[in-house]
Amino acid sequence: MVELPQNLIRLGAQAGSKADAITQVAALLSAAGNVAPDYVNGMLAREEQANTYLGSGIAIPHGTPETRDLIGRTGIAVLQVPGGVAWGEGGETVRLVVGIAAASDEHLDILRRLTRVLSDGALVDRLCTTTDAGDVQEALTGERPSAAVPDTAPPLPHTAQVTLPNPLGMHARPATGLAALVRARGGRVRLTRASGESADATRLMEVLSLGLTHGTPLTVSSDSRELLNAVTDAIRAGLGDDLSATPASAAPTRREPEWAPQHVGATVDGVAAADGLVVGVTRQHASGPLEVRDEPGDPVQEAARLNDALAAAHAELNTVIEDVEAKSGADRAAIFRAHQELLADEGTVQDTVGRILDGHGVAWAYQAASGERIAKLQRLDDPTLAARAADLGDVQRRVLRQLLGLRETEVQAGGPVILLAPDLTPSDTARLGPDTLLGFVTAQGGPTSHTAIIARGLGLPAVVAAGRGVLDVPDGTPAILDGAAGRLYLNPSEADVQAARERQGLLERRREAARAARFEPGATRDGVRVEVAANINRAADALAALEAGAEGVGLMRTEFLFLERDSVPTEDEQEQEYRAMAQAMEGRPLIIRTLDIGGDKEVPYLGLAREDNSFLGLRGIRLCFERPDLFLPQLRAVARVARDHANVHLMFPMISTLEDFRRARALFETVRLELGAPEVPLGVMIEVPSAALIAGALAAEVDFFSVGTNDLTQYTLAMDRLHPQLARQTDAMHPAVLQLIALTVQAADRHGKWVGVCGGAAGDEVGALMLAGLGVRELSVSTPQIAGVKAALRGRTLPELQALAREALTQPTAEAVRALVRPAGRGEATA
Ligand code: PEP
Ligand code: MG
Repeated sequence: MVELPQNLIRLGAQAGSKADAITQVAALLSAAGNVAPDYVNGMLAREEQANTYLGSGIAIPHGTPETRDLIGRTGIAVLQVPGGVAWGEGGETVRLVVGIAAASDEHLDILRRLTRVLSDGALVDRLCTTTDAGDVQEALTGERPSAAVPDTAPPLPHTAQVTLPNPLGMHARPATGLAALVRARGGRVRLTRASGESADATRLMEVLSLGLTHGTPLTVSSDSRELLNAVTDAIRAGLGDDLSATPASAAPTRREPEWAPQHVGATVDGVAAADGLVVGVTRQHASGPLEVRDEPGDPVQEAARLNDALAAAHAELNTVIEDVEAKSGADRAAIFRAHQELLADEGTVQDTVGRILDGHGVAWAYQAASGERIAKLQRLDDPTLAARAADLGDVQRRVLRQLLGLRETEVQAGGPVILLAPDLTPSDTARLGPDTLLGFVTAQGGPTSHTAIIARGLGLPAVVAAGRGVLDVPDGTPAILDGAAGRLYLNPSEADVQAARERQGLLERRREAARAARFEPGATRDGVRVEVAANINRAADALAALEAGAEGVGLMRTEFLFLERDSVPTEDEQEQEYRAMAQAMEGRPLIIRTLDIGGDKEVPYLGLAREDNSFLGLRGIRLCFERPDLFLPQLRAVARVARDHANVHLMFPMISTLEDFRRARALFETVRLELGAPEVPLGVMIEVPSAALIAGALAAEVDFFSVGTNDLTQYTLAMDRLHPQLARQTDAMHPAVLQLIALTVQAADRHGKWVGVCGGAAGDEVGALMLAGLGVRELSVSTPQIAGVKAALRGRTLPELQALAREALTQPTAEAVRALVRPAGRGEATA
């Protein structure tokens, strides 16, 4: 509830013109610290767009949405002009000017009271002539304060710098987490970009509209040091996002179809969004735009209708959340919690009310206010963030349905169908579910949209971006949908349908067999061992990895110990974490990688200088050499654990020269001898092309190599590993990358050393087969990929894989390499 202290009321004023009156009321707001002085320009500009005359001699000037950043704190000021001032072209005279600076919707209550005042002629008269400010206070707030309350907008004195670590940028889910954190703690937090654009952290739309992509530097400011620390910690920890994911791994990789029908009428090619194979008939899902007419009504009633519609939409979403949580888990349901945040966006509500007060109907006003925001998101450069416009469109439709009294459209069943649609909202997808739907194909959309994520959670095969042609397919057309291949086959022959059904059975049996055999040692069909280990960063994740069949930890990214907090972990704290991990592995190998800070992994509290090319600068081992205060305690912590656990291995990242390795080894050896620790197998990451090219020299001195295909691919192809537009091309199966891996393995073999791979390619089935064929003896992958990788290896003999790898090295493109992998052998082995 907004207070109206006496210093924001001026009685008995005179104004020569409307502009003069606005300037005076703006001055009251600015003098009280509610707004910056320039806010008056926003108020004048707003008046140019729409007259803010309310009726009965009252006007409510307020700023344009663009000037909302000039508001420090929501407030209202009242200028009483008993002699009146000419307001609009319609000849209205205004005697009470109520200036509004609304950073939130706390002032709505005052506006509702104002509209009540309007209908009471005697009260209007009294307010326009009274010499007692208490009358105005009472009429507008319902209270008659006994004393003036000093009202100054507190500045946000505490600030900190962070760099956004989220691979997909600040999308709706992390932004929701941030808003919830600030609300739970109480207090104010603003995020400001280097360009000066800023957003209140509790306003989801404002935060999304900043277009914060991965790596954006931000200033976080707050009125409390503790809150600031909590917020910056949470941002650095990713606000619930997996920081090691890349946009490329967020969506299924494009694969050559493992299977294709022989005699189909037509094939629709799209982008694979969710795996699975189904046979059925098609149905078009046309949810045309909702028709909204501008039907103005009583402003108070219209505002109340808005409140009701928002509350009803919120309640509907509670049901959706329960449903999705039950079917696909809390992670997917979080998408709809974000929708609840979007629903509550104060800026949208406020603009809607502004439009209602300007004389528009509530549905029209809400459509316009939310539509503006959708358009703004659609214009963002970053496609992942722009995809969030679909979420906002979904929310808009939900609210408009409430306002227009429309029910959710049902998909006409008549048996589950393959749904064809221009696009589907996340809500549609969650609501449809496997009971009414076999799968879907959309003309638009992308594989990282929430619609695609929901489909994967529900186990619904989905193909997106199939083009408008799919909308011409008549209802009831027999079809086969192959989600993994990104294809819809129309009018298949009877034999094709039969073959598809057989393949469905095969896929199911394969999944089951892989799960059942997850504890078997990783090996090819002819029994050659290829260990399958897990990439995990915390001891807390060890149990799940072992339960999924992990044979060790092939990569512990220790920088996450540093990224998830606000200060450097001490040597003791590090020792504790490494020890817990070593113990949890119960003798299985544990490869601890020393700090790999720099590039995309920034630790703001270290105060490192910004670099123009952070991926090419002081990253990984290079930074460690510059910062012995970070490196030596880490080496000591590892050596202390190694005294008690023989499974500890140590590995250095970003090695590009032989000197790098020698220097790192010398530092560790000094520490190790000081602490009386035994020798520890020492390895280097092969993730820079130069390291692969001098693998012979390195192999003579190291104990093992682990290939980081994520970086090796980015540095070989000169493609930023996080670049969303390059995601499709940044493929480790490029023959240039495979050549470098082949060189590495050959060099290691000559010196009797082993090679593992801990980059993303190891977890991709084609990648796993290719790498094993090249001679890699350990694949370290994310936990959910373990069973599938083991199963893929079991389907082939080593000679088969070696032949495949030899052929791959002669191919001109990554696509040609992937095309070599046909699943025949694997199918026979597990069918
Ligand atoms: C890699 O580069 O492939 C790797 C495993 O290291 P990171 O992803 O941590 O850079
Ligand atoms: Mg790397």
